[in-house]
Amino acid sequence: MKFDTKVVRAGICPDPSTGAIVPPIYQSATYVLEEVGKDKGFDYTRASNPTREILENNLAALDGGKYGICFSSGMAAVDSIMKILKSGDHVICSDDVYGGVSRLYNNLIVNYGISFSYVNSSNSQEVEDAIQDNTKLIWIETPTNPLLKVTDLDAVGKIAKKHEILYGVDSTFSTPALLRPLEYGADITMHSSTKYLSGHNQIIGGVLITNNDELFEKFKFIQKSVGAVPSPFDCWLTLLGIKTLSVRMHRHCENAQAIAEFLEEHPKVDKVTYPGLPSHPQYDIAKEQMEGYSGMISMELKGGIPSGISFMNSLKLCSLAESLGAVETMITHPATMTHADVPKDERLARGLTDGLVRLSVGIEDKQDIIDDIYHALK
Ligand code: PLP
Repeated sequence: MKFDTKVVRAGICPDPSTGAIVPPIYQSATYVLEEVGKDKGFDYTRASNPTREILENNLAALDGGKYGICFSSGMAAVDSIMKILKSGDHVICSDDVYGGVSRLYNNLIVNYGISFSYVNSSNSQEVEDAIQDNTKLIWIETPTNPLLKVTDLDAVGKIAKKHEILYGVDSTFSTPALLRPLEYGADITMHSSTKYLSGHNQIIGGVLITNNDELFEKFKFIQKSVGAVPSPFDCWLTLLGIKTLSVRMHRHCENAQAIAEFLEEHPKVDKVTYPGLPSHPQYDIAKEQMEGYSGMISMELKGGIPSGISFMNSLKLCSLAESLGAVETMITHPATMTHADVPKDERLARGLTDGLVRLSVGIEDKQDIIDDIYHALK
């Protein structure tokens, strides 16, 4: 199947008992055994659930993987990867990851004797230079949240392979419609399915995808043992969202490109970052490895923080909200919202200034979005 068919069909068959074209929501905690030791493939929903299994198979197919393992949030998926490490292990991580990821690593996981080095992974040499004898995982986010730095996945994949280090990619901003990290040597692809995959601001969820049998067994064990699983209803809502992933992503990309170009020309805007603009520092890599540049834009207004705040408060159509990747255009102030828990010194060192504004461009009519931004800038 081609990708556009997979989003609608992969792993989804008419319900065997009724022919229902939409998979049922198997809202059941447990399953009755036919006799001792004989079940129908399911025994308890923390371990597995038919609706979740359909979603896991569908997501695995989209990313070109053998296995999908779903979690109750993107953070639960990130945390599950930490559970395959041991005290004394070292992780190399992109320096501009989502604030919740660095919060988890720096405030919780370090307490278990795991250490982290943050590097600008857009420069693959920095990744290789950070390798230590005890490095067990290279964790890349591309494009990053919120500075939209792009990593050359093939280059980092070669480094990971050469040094036999596990290689994981948070591909939330790209989605499998635009990029499939397993094709570039990643061992694990991760998504916050809260974002583009479900696409309508209707659920919180996460997923890990892998081709590796051993990793799959480990993640399944962690999923069952910890129990951070999505509800059957959330799985069902995610499945509905995914059916339009491809058409939505095309529209997100088209709208974001037009808005980024509009902003780049605007006299009140100091700096615009969008991987689809030739001015983006990794434009060439993005062009080569992505099939579109997604819907995320970062910008700085002239006049710094007061201008940024007055701009955000003046928008009428675009919603001031956390999160991203949904049909509605949303705007965020990372310093006080998504990345508020990143210590100020660290934020500034990363280039995440107080005046930075992040736009998640939705699928509304692009002229309506531009008009809203135009009036707010005025
Ligand atoms: N990864 C990225 C890139 C994110 O943007 C987020 C959330 O914003 C997460 C992971 C965490 O996902 P969730 O909010 O579903 O736990």
